[in-house]
Amino acid sequence: AKQAGRNQYYSYTPNLKAMAERNLTIVNGLSTALAKNEFTLYYQPQIDTRTNRIVGLEALIRWNSPELGFVSPAQFIPIAEDTGMIKSIGDWVLNAAFKQTKQLVDEGYADILVSVNLSAHQLREPLFAERIAELLQQHELSPRNVCLEITERTAIFDSKKSLEICRALVELGVSLSIDDFGTGFSSLSMLNRFPFTYIKIDRSLIQDIAMNVNEAKVVQTIIELADRLGMKVIAEGVETEQQFSLLCKLGCHEVQGYLRGRPMPTEQLKVFLADDKH
Ligand code: C2E
Ligand code: CA
Ligand code: CA
Ligand code: CA
Repeated sequence: AKQAGRNQYYSYTPNLKAMAERNLTIVNGLSTALAKNEFTLYYQPQIDTRTNRIVGLEALIRWNSPELGFVSPAQFIPIAEDTGMIKSIGDWVLNAAFKQTKQLVDEGYADILVSVNLSAHQLREPLFAERIAELLQQHELSPRNVCLEITERTAIFDSKKSLEICRALVELGVSLSIDDFGTGFSSLSMLNRFPFTYIKIDRSLIQDIAMNVNEAKVVQTIIELADRLGMKVIAEGVETEQQFSLLCKLGCHEVQGYLRGRPMPTEQLKVFLADDKH
């Protein structure tokens, strides 16, 4: 036991060191990633449970680093936030997403709703709504094709300012989602105060619904709540037919998950969308 303890000690320290080194490599790599064109957007379909058709897409950033290969946004976005690099990355994401959405609209997907994830930083920029208005105009894109995803964590830093920005965004005509719903502590109070159109139920709440009656009841209750508030529900992380059919039964409006499509690059997306049309 003594030896195991010692081994643990020895293996722990280099691990921390490796983590710190990796983070440093990420920081360094991120600082030139934009200039070197290393980011792309993938899109994951969102399916209307009534019509079984694709009604929306979530834009998800991908970074292919020459040193590290594909790095998960779950790993580099928090680092980009800490270092302030999220400002330029966030703006790149909006630009790229609006440009590609405009293309899809022009190719006949006039009603497609593309969701873009916002970071806390963006919701604290005093002129953020103006920036969105400017980008919409620049890309000749209707606000009706755009949805912005906000988590509680995104809005919580300065909720008064965030709220003002959200109101201005809705005024522009874009829609808002509350993302990762059910993972935080202030979800319910945010529902009342912020002008959301969509509630995205976090994958952690969807995972066990087909096996656990109580988990299903929680999701059912969120759907009922959304109905009463006039909001729509999107279930995230739907991976199995069992989850899908249960969500349909519970009246969930839309699903997103590996079952109906992984996040994919635009070339693949266009094939996927064309198949959906038939
Ligand atoms: P998120 O906004 O909650 O995005 C959903 C994540 O779940 C995505 O991970 C997606 O690939 C993954 N996912 C979708 N369906 C399934 C499924 O059926 N099973 C499982 N296991 N996972 C599924 P991804 O793309 O790695 O993104 C991770 C997080 O990084 C996102 O979580 C979001 O918080 C952040 N992120 C991604 N793109 C952006 C961006 O452009 N801007 C900002 N600020 N954050 C972003
Ligand atoms: Ca999201
Ligand atoms: Ca989410
Ligand atoms: Ca999530």
